[in-house]
Amino acid sequence: MDRRGAQDQDVVVVGASVAGLLTAAALARDGRHLTLLDRDDLPDTAEPRTGVPQGRQPHLLLHRGLRAIEALLPGFGADLRAAGAVRVDTGDLAWLGVLGWSPPCRQLEILLATRPLIEHVLRARVLGLPGVQVVGGTRATGLRRGDATGPRWRVDTEPAGWRDGPAGRSTEPDAWGADLVVDASGRASRLPRWLHALGLPDAPVEGLDAHVGYSTVRVRLPRERVAAKGVVILAAPGVIGGMALPAEDDVWTVTGFGAGARRPPRDLPGLREFLGHVRDDSLARVVAAGDVEGDVATHRQTGNQRHRYDRVNPWPDGLLVVGDALCALNPVYGQGMTVAALMAQTVRAADERGPLTAPGAAARVVRECVEAGEAPWQMATGADRALLGLPGPRSPVAVLAGRWVGELERLSTHGDTAAQVSLARVYQLEGAPTTLFHPRLVRRWVRARVRGYGPPVPRPTVLRDDVSEPVGDGR
Ligand SMILES: Cc1cc2nc3c(=O)[nH]c(=O)nc-3n(C[C@H](O)[C@H](O)[C@H](O)COP(=O)(O)OP(=O)(O)OC[C@H]3O[C@@H](n4cnc5c(N)ncnc54)[C@H](O)[C@@H]3O)c2cc1C
Repeated sequence: MDRRGAQDQDVVVVGASVAGLLTAAALARDGRHLTLLDRDDLPDTAEPRTGVPQGRQPHLLLHRGLRAIEALLPGFGADLRAAGAVRVDTGDLAWLGVLGWSPPCRQLEILLATRPLIEHVLRARVLGLPGVQVVGGTRATGLRRGDATGPRWRVDTEPAGWRDGPAGRSTEPDAWGADLVVDASGRASRLPRWLHALGLPDAPVEGLDAHVGYSTVRVRLPRERVAAKGVVILAAPGVIGGMALPAEDDVWTVTGFGAGARRPPRDLPGLREFLGHVRDDSLARVVAAGDVEGDVATHRQTGNQRHRYDRVNPWPDGLLVVGDALCALNPVYGQGMTVAALMAQTVRAADERGPLTAPGAAARVVRECVEAGEAPWQMATGADRALLGLPGPRSPVAVLAGRWVGELERLSTHGDTAAQVSLARVYQLEGAPTTLFHPRLVRRWVRARVRGYGPPVPRPTVLRDDVSEPVGDGR
């Protein structure tokens, strides 16, 4: 492994959430000093915090993301399981797509846990790496170039959170010298302003907002009481959806989501009613079967937003940007943490190639991080265009590809497990979209067209005492 340039380097990462922690894991090594700054005081336990307002919403870590984190932090999955995460094969989830239920079959293993637990386990692992420190209660307020004799950058900070100034902690503004700065401060990143202040060109911003809203409650419900491993009911144009997923300590997160005027309400009676209108009433019944804990948590900042820092020329050396600060996606597709992990792997690969502080190296890594998020970006914005009823791609190839995916979904909802597994692998970012055109799948489709599709997949049993209930109207 090439470690040139790593010795005695100071790295400052702004944001100690999932992307910041994973990038720190990618960069940590002997001789390097890594400081993660976060505006929040970081808790010792797994609990939601102000700086991550989405923390009370369900966070599905895709199989690809789990694999990427394992590569960065071997044994992470075992640690998460030991902390209470629930192991689930995605083929065991009761999954209602636009055309019907997916067939049960072996797919890919994922771990279900609350977002605070995922972050907590990650933070514990990263803090055990050489040279890493996390400094909470510290808000980064600006970025300046250092002078010729000192470090390349200065990250200006001010105290945040701890107003009383605990012993040993400064309550004054400060500046952190760094050879390499990583912005991992999420959607609220101030990097566009900081670059502007440095006299650099603005990065174009791409965006598409389907105005999806989430409302979530925690429901305590023994796992034995529920027959399904989890329930996912997809939203569609004009149709609301939701999910019920188990997490640690026999707690389920039950969520309703919808777009625009169909966003779910913020109060419990309203959410119960909303869930009763979802195409299948299993979510409403999961809530009714357990004890609701705490308030309804809502979140409405879900638009896709990508800063094209790869198009800023010249891009400054020794500056990286990762995670939501670079590319934030509509969370309905569950890709954000996985994209952060893929970007962290990109950073590690670049670090192994040669010094990240070398002229042009950071610009290349930023380009590669944009590429790491490209397929999820296309997937999320493509699906959101459909959700918004916007015209889709016009090229005949793209139109045909869209129709073909619809055909595979139809096959799947009539029990074709090969079609379902292929779709699930692409959704979990494990299979390239081209795998959906495998001749075996084409043959199965031709056979179904000739001999008939067969009966649709029946509604799976969700609760142990499940009885067929009238379904909602989907509004
Ligand atoms: C409703 C919702 C549901 C989601 N569900 C999923 C899901 O199912 N699966 C999935 O993979 N992803 C999901 N995501 C996305 C996921 O939360 C993020 O993509 C992922 O956490 C990576 O985010 P990040 O670390 O880049 O930023 P964040 O998690 O937003 O963290 C940013 C960090 O930077 C800190 N910070 C911000 N500004 C400053 C500053 N100036 N100085 C110091 N610190 C600062 C904040 O305190 C915070 O700790 C969801 C997101 C939302 C909104």
